[in-house]
Amino acid sequence: MTTPILPGATLGVLGSGQLGRMFAIAARRLGYRVHVLSPDTDTPTGQVADVEIHAEYDDADAVTSFVRGVDVVTFEFENVPSTATEIAAKFVPVRPGGDILHIAQHRAREKTFLRQHGFPTAPFSIAGTFEELQQAIARIGCPAVLKTAGFGYDGKGQMVLRSPDQAAAGWQQLGSSDVVLEGLIDFDCEVSVIVVRGVDGELATYGPIRNAHANHILDLSTVPAGLPQPLSDEAIAMSRAIAESLNLVGVLCVEMFVTRGNQLLVNELAPRPHNSGHLTIDAHVTCQFEQQVRAVCGLPLGSTRQHTPAAMANLLGDAWRHGTPRWAAAAALPEVKLHLYGKQKARPGRKMGHITALGETIEAAEQLARTARNHLTGEP
Ligand code: AMP
Repeated sequence: MTTPILPGATLGVLGSGQLGRMFAIAARRLGYRVHVLSPDTDTPTGQVADVEIHAEYDDADAVTSFVRGVDVVTFEFENVPSTATEIAAKFVPVRPGGDILHIAQHRAREKTFLRQHGFPTAPFSIAGTFEELQQAIARIGCPAVLKTAGFGYDGKGQMVLRSPDQAAAGWQQLGSSDVVLEGLIDFDCEVSVIVVRGVDGELATYGPIRNAHANHILDLSTVPAGLPQPLSDEAIAMSRAIAESLNLVGVLCVEMFVTRGNQLLVNELAPRPHNSGHLTIDAHVTCQFEQQVRAVCGLPLGSTRQHTPAAMANLLGDAWRHGTPRWAAAAALPEVKLHLYGKQKARPGRKMGHITALGETIEAAEQLARTARNHLTGEP
């Protein structure tokens, strides 16, 4: 058994957004210290960490001095350059490992990993030139979704090709490096499973969680998802198998499409806590962030039992368009929990916070989440 990293130790986080913030809150509740490194200042994570280091991820001296001051390194987004994780790994454990980050930060590598390990995905082809894109279109057919291979999230860096004659426009817009062309899936719904794997291989899961997107950004998550039991079991079994194939230590979100024929297709892997798992803070015995702390520290995992049906609604910067949202109106709803990330500037599409609504039934929770958000923005 690996020696656990116990409370009182210092946890290092690369990346300083809201996922790091909620990780840091969970870590501090357990008595750990948290240091964070990112190129920004006064960040959502930095505001609640013990130490906030302001440096580029490829600044080898800064990363070295940062990791010398911590007992383990984790990250809160997958686009951390591998130089940073390689430096960190010379001094302390990096969990999840840099090899997982390398797979998950590049769609072509991620899809290839899934295919090679027998996990179902939408049909896809990888193209590095315009000619290869044309061949991919001939193979996959249209409509199809063209995505950049690297550094895409929340629908950024992707477009739908309705017919082959849009290939040139697509290549012009996205084809600066490798692209992935996927069949457009006419799905029934989207779900995610959050799987946690400890240092000794112990597994825990949340979900499936049902996810609805607006403008390619997660809008509403609900759990239980209401899938037929065999499909739900299959989604969980597949997510556990993916975590094992990756030899994961930490938290992984597996996003899936449920097709109209009740088939599961894996769309994306995120080797960190995920927006769809934020409701675990208020609705489950142990939240995804505490599990990240436990997993990266080599502690046993906590219970993922859910207390109450729950719905999570994101608060994007758009909610500020008529002025500061009416916080007191949300506080007036006793089954609603408000989470704000401490970001100063509200831009459209920027994730500023979320609300979690609890209910006797999933329908009641979902309705309450929508009502609460409307109260905040002053909509009827
Ligand atoms: P992604 O950036 O791959 O997570 O995609 C963002 C969202 O775009 C997904 O959650 C889906 O709603 C939609 N999407 C992505 N890929 C496909 C696809 N192959 N077929 C249908 N919808 C897709």
